[in-house]
Amino acid sequence: MNAPLTSTQSASLAEGLVSPWADDFPILARPVRKRRLAYLDNGATTQKPRAVIQALETYYTESNANIHRGVHWLSQHATDLYEQARDRVRTLLNAPDSQHIVFTAGTTASINLVAQTWGQSLRAGDEILVTGMEHHSNIVPWQLLCARTGAVLRHARITDSGELDLDDFRAQLNARTRLVGFAHVSNALGTVNPAAELTRLAHEAGALVLIDGAQAVAHAPVDVQALDCDFYAFSGHKLYGPTGIGALYVRGSILADLPPWQGGGDMIRTVSFEGSTWAAGPQRFEAGTPNIGGSIVMGAAIDYVLSIGLDRIAAHEAALLADATERMQALPGVRLVGTAAHKAGILSFLVDGIHPHDLGTILDTEGVAIRAGHHCAMPLMSSFGIPGTARASFALYNDGRDIDALVAGVRKAQKLFG
Ligand code: PLP
Repeated sequence: MNAPLTSTQSASLAEGLVSPWADDFPILARPVRKRRLAYLDNGATTQKPRAVIQALETYYTESNANIHRGVHWLSQHATDLYEQARDRVRTLLNAPDSQHIVFTAGTTASINLVAQTWGQSLRAGDEILVTGMEHHSNIVPWQLLCARTGAVLRHARITDSGELDLDDFRAQLNARTRLVGFAHVSNALGTVNPAAELTRLAHEAGALVLIDGAQAVAHAPVDVQALDCDFYAFSGHKLYGPTGIGALYVRGSILADLPPWQGGGDMIRTVSFEGSTWAAGPQRFEAGTPNIGGSIVMGAAIDYVLSIGLDRIAAHEAALLADATERMQALPGVRLVGTAAHKAGILSFLVDGIHPHDLGTILDTEGVAIRAGHHCAMPLMSSFGIPGTARASFALYNDGRDIDALVAGVRKAQKLFG
């Protein structure tokens, strides 16, 4: 175990870790438990900048109407804003065309959409390959699909440091593999998967690729054309936008052939009792009145991160992660879970003799918000032989004071548990 840092060393490490963007987030000014809020639960959801909160008010004050159906001005205006938001997503992901972007309720809905539309082509004996570090939302939809079709769900193992075992991944790929699904960034460990390489290997085996970008899009630039993936899913609320909205990128040639998902208004071209025909493009998957306001406000969130620059955000969060890792590693009795060479701003850890939930509760009394538990990745936790971890996850507004509060809170918990 490394020697603990002295307080002088701790302070100097935190020096310079300031966020020029923290003042954009009004909620950070509110005290929690009479303490300064150190919000380190960004993997679960992010706080919203004023620009996003204002976009919500502006939409409902000035632009609210149903889309795609109205002849009146307001409906056309709302439709324009909705389609502009689709184009914002295209820009965020560097997709070739906004017609390859489907609005969904979030990552979970995006993956279920693929499982229930593309999945209709699956036959008994076909295989889906995921990794052992997936969030439940990239496991359970495939289990349901396999139960319906007789297909088989396989998973590639994870190494002790929390990286995908590439040899095992290669070994599991075969001529029966129809789709490979993996997290771009693990929500439980922060491991960044080599997405382009995994995609290349999957394509060589003849499989399609779905990337779960829930923990990636807000933290580093994403380019679906460079990745060459077939599907890319993410949620707006982890990207400083609202809950209940997200998107799915679908490669154009695949989207054209996908059968519809939910039936109803807006997803049809014609309806008759003899049979109906479907709308082309993403509208085929957006039945009923969609989350119009949510999509437009998510567009404002995308504008916000792009105006800062995802490279700058990535650099800021990398500095936070490096500092937090060094200081937490230096605390006696603290064990980091997931020490991959390439990580995003997520720190999972265990403290000797303190259950993660107890730790989370003590940190909460200090105004430090972290997550404790299995992080919706129970198979991953089982592979490490642990029920869960404590997880601090960073966003662009975090700074050295948040890390100070985390380290001080862990020390306090250790004293309390003696
Ligand atoms: N995938 C990953 C890696 C996640 O971290 C999450 C949420 O934590 C999800 C999927 C599910 O996202 P949502 O609940 O927004 O659908």
